[in-house]
Amino acid sequence: MIFPDNGKRAELGLFIDGKMRSGRGATYELIDPATETVLANVSGASEGDVADAVASAERGMKAWQGLSPQQRYQVLIGTAAQLRASSGELARTLSMEQGKTLAEASIEVELAAETFDWYAGEVLRLYGRVLPARSPQSFQTVTPVPMGVAACFTPWNFPILLAARKVAPALAAGCAAILKPAEETVAIALSLAQCLTDAGAPAGAIAVLHGDAPRISDQLIAAPAVRTVTFTGSTAIGRVVAQTAARWLKPCVLELGGHAPVIVMDDADVPSAAATAVLGKIRNAGQVCTSPTRFFVARPVYDSFVDAFAAGMDAVRVGRGIEDGVQMGALANARRVEAADALVQDAVAKGARLLTGGQREGNQGFLYRPTVLADVPDDANVLSTEPFCPIAAIVPYDRVEDAIARANAHQAGLAGYVFGSDFAAAQAVARQLEVGQVGINSCAVSHIEATFGGAKESGYGVESSSEGMHAFLRYQYIHHLQLG
Ligand code: NAD
Repeated sequence: MIFPDNGKRAELGLFIDGKMRSGRGATYELIDPATETVLANVSGASEGDVADAVASAERGMKAWQGLSPQQRYQVLIGTAAQLRASSGELARTLSMEQGKTLAEASIEVELAAETFDWYAGEVLRLYGRVLPARSPQSFQTVTPVPMGVAACFTPWNFPILLAARKVAPALAAGCAAILKPAEETVAIALSLAQCLTDAGAPAGAIAVLHGDAPRISDQLIAAPAVRTVTFTGSTAIGRVVAQTAARWLKPCVLELGGHAPVIVMDDADVPSAAATAVLGKIRNAGQVCTSPTRFFVARPVYDSFVDAFAAGMDAVRVGRGIEDGVQMGALANARRVEAADALVQDAVAKGARLLTGGQREGNQGFLYRPTVLADVPDDANVLSTEPFCPIAAIVPYDRVEDAIARANAHQAGLAGYVFGSDFAAAQAVARQLEVGQVGINSCAVSHIEATFGGAKESGYGVESSSEGMHAFLRYQYIHHLQLG
């Protein structure tokens, strides 16, 4: 059990060379965001720790590549089994350090296991090609080759799922992975590394480093053994990571912020759309890069949608994630509460109607009420700044072309949603949205079998699915001319 039941603090460090060890860098505290109590003392990575992790990853990658595909398949499948076997404990750890409900945390652990299952399969499907020969003496092959050690930067909102989405394909490709989780959620990252190791991953194939993020990031990306970089997090930090990667000519996949538009068409099933949107909005307390956020609602159904949606949001039970009956947990840190308050105050000052929420729940912990703002004016910050909290901004529209244009006017292009009954009309709107994934009558847009990635400033490269392997592979062409 990572966080003891008796209220004592856990002692957490790093995962290097197949085991947990104390970091030699600065120490910090891990906070339960629902209560603001300290869960653990954490020791972060020093420069020497980062160097150790890289050296171990080079050794670990050789050992990993020395296993047959069938053996690597067994390790990844075994990791999924380990995750499932300890799902209850992992979900509790995740809920306590991140704030989400126990139910959401359990689903996340299962999705992480599913990700390892999927990429275990990819190990066995990593085919090369034998090309039609240019001459009878030629033998020409193109073979996928692991890039090298992968630096994987993950955020706090889905700390085990998003780690799995990077680590599983990296390992499936034959790379070693060095994971740099968000400092808010190190316990679940360490648990994942332990599960992989228990399932047979060689020492060094997975490492976990955290602490002084910019320094670790600079050192890791510059390390010659690190050959590929993948980052999920804010657009601002993504820009920094991309610049560092460019300096060292390392390829980089970026999964950044969104500000998902929702177009509710005039033929939408309003009760169903409102109920689906409430569940989509309160998921992980709105701290989801695909969270439905900018609602453009056709005038004929505007009032009925706004009323049903606001009633649904108002009824949500907010509280500590590990308590029974809680439907929405805490925000991850104090910064999110401040951001939520600032967006609400700005919108209301500019003329928006606050229908529910707009304030903290209680005085302790980073709990915030689900919040609905209607008739939001164009100049309100909430329409331009990604809220990353449970705030929905609603605006009426008269022509669907205008709603699409407004949806696409934002620099983010991660996810979008359409609610409507006419199949062709809804599909036509979906195809015009400049985003990586669209949900029609659904807020579920991330599945392991499908690509996940952004357009415009939401990043580049893709994760999930078979395409998720691309970040970790290069290709080698061999033209063999048989002489004599
Ligand atoms: P932030 O921009 O302050 O980022 C903090 C995170 O970035 C920490 O985990 C830190 O370890 C890491 N970091 C900082 N400098 C780094 C560097 N040079 N290299 C690598 N990592 C570095 O974000 P925040 O306050 O934690 O979250 C706020 C915003 O982040 C949200 O508004 C949202 O847009 C975005 N976010 C996006 C996602 C996503 O899934 N795309 C997830 C979480 C947060």
